[in-house]
Amino acid sequence: MDDCIFCKIVSGDIPASVVYENDQVLAFDDISPQAPVHTLVIPKAHHSDLGDGVDAETLAAVFSAVPEVARLKGIAESGYRVIVNNGRDANQLVAHLHVHVMGGKTMAHGMVTFADE
Ligand code: 5GP
Ligand code: ZN
Repeated sequence: MDDCIFCKIVSGDIPASVVYENDQVLAFDDISPQAPVHTLVIPKAHHSDLGDGVDAETLAAVFSAVPEVARLKGIAESGYRVIVNNGRDANQLVAHLHVHVMGGKTMAHGMVTFADE
């Protein structure tokens, strides 16, 4: 998709710090990390979010890459959090499906902060 930042990363038009790649998936470090390790895993094919006709094979490829990314980033043993912000209320800012893989430090138990808190 022409105006999609992550499609431009897939095509090489925008540089990224690539962590892992295969035929279906690209993983790269978040430009504005919110954890010591903050890597994004995306399908190379453009899907705006989980509701955008993502086939099971693509989903499997994306999630199968997560433990490999964790291993490459050195957080497989210590643990990590996997987040998909999907749509407006979840504050999804980039409309190309992506999985955040975050770790490198012990997290608080609560997972969600609401905007009015
Ligand atoms: P969202 O809120 O959509 O789930 O998260 C989008 C993420 O993409 C944010 O964490 C943001 O820092 C990251 N991001 C936005 N633009 C770029 C970019 O050009 N390169 C990289 N590596 N990450 C980006
Ligand atoms: Zn895209």
